[in-house]
Amino acid sequence: MKLIILDLDGTLYRGSAPVDGAREAVQELLRRGFIIRYLTNNSTAPPDASAAKLRAMGIPAEPEWVVTSAMGAAWMLQGLVRRALVLGESGLVQALEAVGVEVELATEPASGQPIDVVVVGMCRTATYDALARCQGAILDGARFVATNKDATYPIENGRLIPGAGSLVAAVIAATGQEPQVAGKPEPFLIEHLMADVGATREETWVVGDRIDTDIEAARRAGTRSLLVLTGVTHEAPVGCDGLVAPDIRGILPVTSPDSA
Ligand SMILES: [Mg+2]
Repeated sequence: MKLIILDLDGTLYRGSAPVDGAREAVQELLRRGFIIRYLTNNSTAPPDASAAKLRAMGIPAEPEWVVTSAMGAAWMLQGLVRRALVLGESGLVQALEAVGVEVELATEPASGQPIDVVVVGMCRTATYDALARCQGAILDGARFVATNKDATYPIENGRLIPGAGSLVAAVIAATGQEPQVAGKPEPFLIEHLMADVGATREETWVVGDRIDTDIEAARRAGTRSLLVLTGVTHEAPVGCDGLVAPDIRGILPVTSPDSA
């Protein structure tokens, strides 16, 4: 089983604009019989929304092909905690509830019920009070889990907004504690996908735009990887010993039947 794990933001699209060649690359990989999975550190959007967004750009996608850092956080906590205080958006709330974790939003009034874990992801409605609630719960003994630590999030026209990592950094600063991290660069989700489809490391490619998350996660999981220059990385890093391509179409020559 040959598996291609594709990052979303900065690899297939930026904001609502598809990256050049994204549709033709994915269509060709499917035609060659590869299994496609989309792995994103973005915890805000549920998988069906990400799949719909890809399809609206003409890129083949099913909700079951999409795995998020929010789902990773939920799988890490499944069966271990009862109630989570969440600084995050609907994708994170849905992922936690899907594995039976009760959710209390940090941006809403406190219920007074015991909190077992604080889960921090990207949250565009975060407030000072919400940060203070997360701080209080962790200092009172709750576990601390982060979906991911990406400091920035790419949007249209090359602009950046603060990512989950910016909020995670605030909670680390406020508590002096480090979180368990579910998303890339941790290899947890790549290993989960390989086991799920029955692919070996040699049969698995990870494609992404961030060296410190996508490519590092591939290195830790022992898979092949390709860095694309359509997201946060704009030029091949000096001394980079991995494969680099201008955009996602670079996966086609390296995975062609002739390249083996
Ligand atoms: Mg990316």
